[in-house]
Amino acid sequence: MSCRDRPLVDAFNRRITYLRLSVTDRCDLRCTYCMPERMQFLPRKEVLSLEELHKLSLAMIGRGIRKIRLTGGEPLVRRDVIELVQALGRKLGDGLDELTLTTNGTQLVDHAEALAAAGVRRVNVSLDTLDPALFLELSRRDRLTQVLEGIRAAKEAGLQVKLNAVALKRLNQHELPDLIAWAHGQGHEVTLIEVMPLGEVDGDRIDHYLPLTVVRDELDRRWTLTDSPHRSGGPARYVEVAETSGRLGFITPLTNNFCAGCNRIRVTATGQLYACLGGAEKVDLRAALRSDSPDDGLAAALDQAMLIKPERHHFAIERGAAPAQPRHMSLTGG
Ligand code: SAM
Repeated sequence: MSCRDRPLVDAFNRRITYLRLSVTDRCDLRCTYCMPERMQFLPRKEVLSLEELHKLSLAMIGRGIRKIRLTGGEPLVRRDVIELVQALGRKLGDGLDELTLTTNGTQLVDHAEALAAAGVRRVNVSLDTLDPALFLELSRRDRLTQVLEGIRAAKEAGLQVKLNAVALKRLNQHELPDLIAWAHGQGHEVTLIEVMPLGEVDGDRIDHYLPLTVVRDELDRRWTLTDSPHRSGGPARYVEVAETSGRLGFITPLTNNFCAGCNRIRVTATGQLYACLGGAEKVDLRAALRSDSPDDGLAAALDQAMLIKPERHHFAIERGAAPAQPRHMSLTGG
């Protein structure tokens, strides 16, 4: 087996099969826990072209990546993203098992049908609240109606929609049961996420950090939760909610580390491969792509990534402390 098709296995014997590919760092929302209002975005010339994104994805598929999730920033604000989805969709069943997207939903009305036609079967939509005033406060933009229409359009296009909500103390904390019940009523699975210390924001995240252990206790008092063996290939752990007949996931990067089963790598829109969401270890795929021998360069960079992937992240949220990593989730790709 040549080094261009050797499977990706890291130093801890974890097989890497899942790529999260950020196609832009730009976003049409400004979620307070994600980025400051005056976010400094990357100059466009630094961002990989569509051809480069496609080429590196193919190289990854050749090395055993079976699932690609396009993310950002907001992937659907990139004008040519559907062309990339169509190109990658042609690899489904030919090396690629699944092509998905994480989106804030604001542009789904325009793109849901094209995504489905290209072979996307599931999308994750981030939705922290159903309250228009809180949506505006959290995202600094008045777009809840578009998001809800986007979710409906996705469903009508035949896409399975999973909702992700960041749990935020005193912000959406009291509303989480209603959000979950609504989502389950619409046939959507929901996953709750703990806020992570990534990049500077305007306030202190600790003010709104809500451990999911607390949420689980609150929900346990209200509903009958049964641990589920279901796994989605990611870090979420699930329960079934008897009263709503739906599935609820918990992603707990702070209260319960899940790195032992990590199967993923992340690539930013500038082609920096981060071996861990919470770590600084990276290799430069753009330099490889733009070198005289891109295929060999990419193969060597991917080998290097396997050597440097850390065993685990070390997140801690402490008052006044600097973020675990200076880069925002919108850069690495959530
Ligand atoms: N724009 C797309 C979206 O909204 O889903 C994709 C990118 S966004 C960065 C991906 C996810 O990361 C969203 O669910 C968002 O709420 C979440 N996120 C952003 N910053 C976060 C943080 N510091 N901690 C936890 N989740 C965060």
